[in-house]
Amino acid sequence: METVGRFAPTPSGRMHLGNIFCALLAWLAARSQGGRMVLRIEDLDTLRTRQEYADKLEEEMAWLGLDWEEGGSKGGPHGPYYQSQCSPIYRQAMEILQQKGLVYPCFCSRAELHAATAPHLADGRYVYPGTCRHLTQAQRAEKAKQKSPALRLAVPDEWVGFEDMLFGPTGENLARTAGDFVLMRSDGVFAYQLAVVVDDLRMGVNQVVRGCDLLDSTPRQIWLAKQLGAKTVPQYGHIPLLVDSEGRRLSKRDGDLCLDGLREKFTAPQLVGKLGALAGLIDRPEPLTAAELAKEFAWEKLPREDIRLPADFSRA
Ligand code: GLU
Repeated sequence: METVGRFAPTPSGRMHLGNIFCALLAWLAARSQGGRMVLRIEDLDTLRTRQEYADKLEEEMAWLGLDWEEGGSKGGPHGPYYQSQCSPIYRQAMEILQQKGLVYPCFCSRAELHAATAPHLADGRYVYPGTCRHLTQAQRAEKAKQKSPALRLAVPDEWVGFEDMLFGPTGENLARTAGDFVLMRSDGVFAYQLAVVVDDLRMGVNQVVRGCDLLDSTPRQIWLAKQLGAKTVPQYGHIPLLVDSEGRRLSKRDGDLCLDGLREKFTAPQLVGKLGALAGLIDRPEPLTAAELAKEFAWEKLPREDIRLPADFSRA
């Protein structure tokens, strides 16, 4: 079966080096198997995202030598590729889940959600305690007069495991570590978890390579995909995150290391070679194209810990 990989950026700012690293590894993983690439623009939240960032990231991917067969401004057979244009598709998926009795309205305020009574996990995540799950129809109707609800997916007390391409066997109990999660926010915006699952399915994506900050979303997404009728789910590979010299994760907010400065310092093959060496794919950071680096790609070579950036990537 042909590998179909994807890169699914959120255009809420310029891509930083961490996003570029993720795009590169997703591309290498797919291309090293002769696979195809899809570019999906995750601009669900139209207040936070901008078309100009989506356009810019296409230009930057092209500069790096990362191409794709379908998606973004190129379009293709599984469009739309911009999540902002997919509401009718997400609504259909929501109806399937509603018909299965898996969706319920949640009227909790942000303050209630963070109330001290809610169990928090060691890593700072918190699990929704199911407050609104068992409201009666009458209670729901009453509350709906005051407030529009978010919609949550009722998850079972069930372990969902998978074999990560880098981390090996992993998984979690949905009720205990994820809890009933939001499918649509109270302002009517569909949630990432729903959109990503629906889109990976309808675009035929069978290989998902992304940052390991999303590792704990994967059991939820696998379970959700199955509720939506998926016979198979993608293979997942979660890659290490890049951190600065103080161990801080890069973020768009801080304008961390966007390509402008790096393009002044490095050619595309130099940057690709440096990222390839940081990923452990090659021994020395010698310049090479993304296509050349694809020949060196192997999951076994990647580290599982965060990758600290060397000084020549400093912010200055
Ligand atoms: N859109 C997400 C991001 O930019 C990535 C989602 C994914 O790869 O599943 O962080």
